[in-house]
Order: sequence, then structure tokens, then C-alpha cells
Amino acid sequence: MSENVRLRPEIAALTAYSQGRSPSPDGFKLSSNENPYPALPGVLEAAAAHVEINRYPDGAAVALRARLADLFDVEFSEVIVGAGSSSLLQQLFLAAAAPGDEIVYAWRSFEAYPGFVTVTGATSVHVPLTAGLEHDLDALAAAVTDRTRVVVVCSPNNPTGPAVSAAAFEKFMAAVPAEVLVVLDEAYREFVTDPLAVDGEAYLGRYPNLVITRTFSKAYGLAGLRVGYAIGPARLLAAARATAIPFAVTELGFAAALASLERKPLLDERVAEIVARRDRLRGALIEQGWSIPSAQGNFLWLPTGGLTTQAADAFFDADIAVRPFAEEGIRISIGEEESIERVLAVTSGLRQGR
Ligand SMILES: *Cc1c(COP(=O)(O)O)cnc(C)c1O
Repeated sequence: MSENVRLRPEIAALTAYSQGRSPSPDGFKLSSNENPYPALPGVLEAAAAHVEINRYPDGAAVALRARLADLFDVEFSEVIVGAGSSSLLQQLFLAAAAPGDEIVYAWRSFEAYPGFVTVTGATSVHVPLTAGLEHDLDALAAAVTDRTRVVVVCSPNNPTGPAVSAAAFEKFMAAVPAEVLVVLDEAYREFVTDPLAVDGEAYLGRYPNLVITRTFSKAYGLAGLRVGYAIGPARLLAAARATAIPFAVTELGFAAALASLERKPLLDERVAEIVARRDRLRGALIEQGWSIPSAQGNFLWLPTGGLTTQAADAFFDADIAVRPFAEEGIRISIGEEESIERVLAVTSGLRQGR
């Protein structure tokens, strides 16, 4: 009887991540902030061409780290890669926090944070978003105690959309003690168009307690290959690397990431299309009477409140998968062009109470 096996109760209580219902092949999957486009042309071919899958990958990820170090103008030791930035977030948490410690982050934010914190044995401290569903950076800084080991800032915030302003971030960094690791999660940075928004790249080398995380999963369309990266002080990244599962990123992942970086102009074009589609959808929703927070990622937030479950059903009936957060709202990823009209038909029906 496996019931007799003693598990860590807090781990046994973690509900497994649920990817939600799938639409039909004619429907739209707007539930995971994935890129609607396939990998950039030539990327898969370039990756498959030189990969020997009977061999272990390069555990030090030399080629990709060197390329990223070059792009961001930092030392090789100031970049690490992981199996998605999810993996790097967990590694950073593990490197800094243990039972009795606290990890502070805004809530609602990325759904994976609570589980990652629980795995470390530390305690999550949730700081509510503002009424406008943005980070409250003053409150985040004020929530830091002697026990705090990490503060996470998610910009743009998944699932609500707004980015943190550079001015607010700088004030926040000045207020957080230098002993506390700050992780700036920029999974959606490529989609940000607000000129006042924070850009972690601008702070590299400036704060000894700041690490930024980014990913090839969203803008680059490589979610299925699992490659993310972190940039920050070498000592902090070395500690995060020490917590990693060896060889978690595959050669296929390295090669696809490198090939994608070589195709930056095409990437920029695709990002521009998704951004334009996002802004158009947001505008049309506002015209329907919705109040939609600033959307700086490849998704937007529909505040359906107490009607969220019914609203999610209405989307599902229209063969659209979205991400509902019961009693709060629905996150809609920006997908195929053809999905926009169908989304707007559902939201218009919801406004009219159908
Ligand atoms: C998607 C996402 C990530 C990481 O995704 P990976 O596929 O693991 O790189 C990290 N943070 C946020 C907020 C995300 O939405």
C-alpha cells in the first residue's frame, strides 16, 4: 500500500500542474501563452543536422552561453542556461532558500512560483497586486524581513499583463537589502512595447543581488524544446548551477536556440505581428466595454470575476481553450490571426449576458 510510504506532506499536497482542456484540431489553444507560429524557418533542420542523440549533451552549455554572453555583453560566467527558465527559477530558489526562509512575490503571478518555493522547504509570502492588477513594488520591498532570501518580480506579469516601470524597479532595488536575491522574471520581455517598462538588460553589472531570467519558449517559439537562460553575478549563477539536474538541456535545444538567435530579424517581425494583434484585440475588447489591464506580454487578462467559470465554458463551447482563474478572470494568449474574431464573438456574447 503506497499510502504507508512517508512523503513530505507539503509535497504530497501540491496539486500537479494541469494543462487544461484541449480544443479540437479546428479550435484555438490560447491557454499556455505559446507562440502560434512554428519554429523559425530552418531552425529545426539546423538543430537536427548536427545532433548525435546517442551522446550526452554539453553539460556546460558552452556554445549557447558564449553566444548569449556576447549578445548581452557580459562574461561567460554571468550566463547560465536551463531546461526552460522555469528550471532556472527553481534552481535560484534552491540555491538561496531553505526551510524557515521566505520567498516573496506578487500574487496573482506565475502559477509555478508557489510549487517551486514549496520544493525548497521555504515559505511563500504573497504580496497582493494593486487594484490595476500591477505589481506593488513598495509593498514587495516592505514585505522583506530577516527571513527573506529571494524576491521575485515578474514583468510583464503573468497572468495579468502589466510590466513594472523602470523607475519603480530602481526605487525597489534601492530599498531591498543587498543580502536578498532579486529575480526579475522576464519571460515575455521580447513583447514589451511600453518605453517606460523595466528592461533587465539595462541593469546588468549594476546590482550585485539581481539575476534576470529569460526564455526561448515564448517569443522564440521553442516551448517544446525547453531552453531558458539567466544572467547575473557569476557567484549566484554558479550556486544555481550546482542545484541543476545534470544534462537537463539537450543538444537539440542548444542548437535550436543558437539557430533562432541567428534569425533575429525574422523573430522581430513575428513578435511585431503578435504585438500588433495583441493591441488590436485589447482595443476591441475595450470597445466592447471590458476593462483590460495594460498587456505587455503575448496574452491579456479578461476580468470575468464571479462569472469566470461560465465564461471559460463559453470559450470552450466556441472551441477555444483559455486559462481561467476561478472568481478572478481569464488569461487569453495571443494566437492565430483567425482566433481574434472568434474570441471577440465570445466576449461580445458575455457582455450581452448570453
Ligand atoms: C512561461 C513562463 C516562464 C518560463 O517558461 P519556460 O518554458 O520554463 O522557459 C517563466 N516565467 C513566466 C512568468 C512564464 O510565464
